[in-house]
Amino acid sequence: MVRLRFAPSPTGYLHVGGLRTALFCWFYVRQQGGKLIFRLEDTDQKRLVEGAENGLIGMLEWAGIDLDESPRSGGESGPYRQSERLEIYNQYVRKLLEEDNAYRCFCSLERLEKLKDEQRAKGETPRYDGFCRYLPREEVRRRTDSGEAHVVRMKIPEIPETMVLNDLIRGSVSIETSKTEDQIIIKSDGFPTYHLAVVVDDHLMKITHVVRGEEWLPSFPKHLLLYRYFGWDPPQFAHLPLILNPDRSKLSKRQGDVAVEDFRDQGYLPEVLVNFIALLGWSPAQDQEMFTLSELVEEFSFERVNKSGAVFNREKLDWMNQQYIQNLELEDLRRRLSPFLAKTPYAGEDVTLLRKAVKILQPRLVTLVEIGERLSLFFDDNPEAMDPEVLRLLREDTSKQVLSVFIEQLEFIENLTEDNFRSVVKNVQKATNIKGKNLWLPLRYAITLEAQGPDLKLMVDFFGKEKCLRLVRRAQQL
Ligand code: GLU
Repeated sequence: MVRLRFAPSPTGYLHVGGLRTALFCWFYVRQQGGKLIFRLEDTDQKRLVEGAENGLIGMLEWAGIDLDESPRSGGESGPYRQSERLEIYNQYVRKLLEEDNAYRCFCSLERLEKLKDEQRAKGETPRYDGFCRYLPREEVRRRTDSGEAHVVRMKIPEIPETMVLNDLIRGSVSIETSKTEDQIIIKSDGFPTYHLAVVVDDHLMKITHVVRGEEWLPSFPKHLLLYRYFGWDPPQFAHLPLILNPDRSKLSKRQGDVAVEDFRDQGYLPEVLVNFIALLGWSPAQDQEMFTLSELVEEFSFERVNKSGAVFNREKLDWMNQQYIQNLELEDLRRRLSPFLAKTPYAGEDVTLLRKAVKILQPRLVTLVEIGERLSLFFDDNPEAMDPEVLRLLREDTSKQVLSVFIEQLEFIENLTEDNFRSVVKNVQKATNIKGKNLWLPLRYAITLEAQGPDLKLMVDFFGKEKCLRLVRRAQQL
């Protein structure tokens, strides 16, 4: 049975790259009938963030990803936390030390800094020089027993060799061991580093496929060596391509949003973000862009994940979100809008009117958070005309004519509705001989103060005759 893990560090938010990793894992396990476990990689005590675990799991749930072996799915053992497994790592480090595959290193930070500086000055890549690798056993015991601070390093073989990884995405990848150094596996605070913990945990947790970002590719020789030292078979690996900004730099917080939480808060639908992120690096066999979760589970394969970086195209995300919103049932849209609406001044407006307004806005909403600013048109009584273009047009002679004839025409009808608005405007056209843009735009500006916006006849219907009269009269004074 396939067993995959999502193993984030507790950074305080779920990075979109992390969501992609989790999604690819989840698609695969649900397709294969396997298991996906969650493991918090919290061994870096300097980078702990309060509440990170719940936040991460909450965002996965928001995206529709359920985890196995966690209390929320009826399991008991997970989610796993590395900080609770220190004794396990220590046990395996003892084995490495006993079998001479690791050694204690007492080098001070000053010595290491100096070494780095010297190597850089010579144009070399800084790496540990193995100073403590050959300390006499007696000395090591004495210094350890006296409680001297130290780390534990794994040994890279003395005779360089080429390590080969058969990656599910990249095929065969080779790296010389001479490119790596004697990696620290236990820090001076007694916590393991990622490299040791990941290998021990993936083995003990019976992980069959390790799926992670490309940035971990250079680490695989160390990991394969550890598997060899322990006498374990390594799992399969899939290193996912980078996610890039449109300028092809690595997607970073500085250039915009990278936290899934940000996208949720801006009103992107979870199924849209999932659909969009699934296409970052994975390409479906057929020419299709919109996928449901179950289609993604069915279609996904590691063979169709690209090696090259995937550009995060915000316009495409917006387009997709708008498409999905347009296709939602009105009730569903209202339900999804409600947390956003609650934060606007319009939360207490009449339900029927709100419903009508949402229906009018549905074809134009790009994100749910826009609802606040969009509703102001419907419910704010005296919006101010700020746009100089609006003011200029309303002050033109033809506009003034259109508006005053429109007011005259309204005298003849009882109600202004979606159905009779067109014929009223036709009458204005006949009476003034003004048509096209010069006829419609002043009316739109007068009633909505916007050059673009929802369908004018729907707005007019929403406002009704009295309010339209008031708005047009106000526009005459501008
Ligand atoms: N904790 C690592 C990270 O957050 C996970 C890498 C892995 O999946 O092996 O990047």
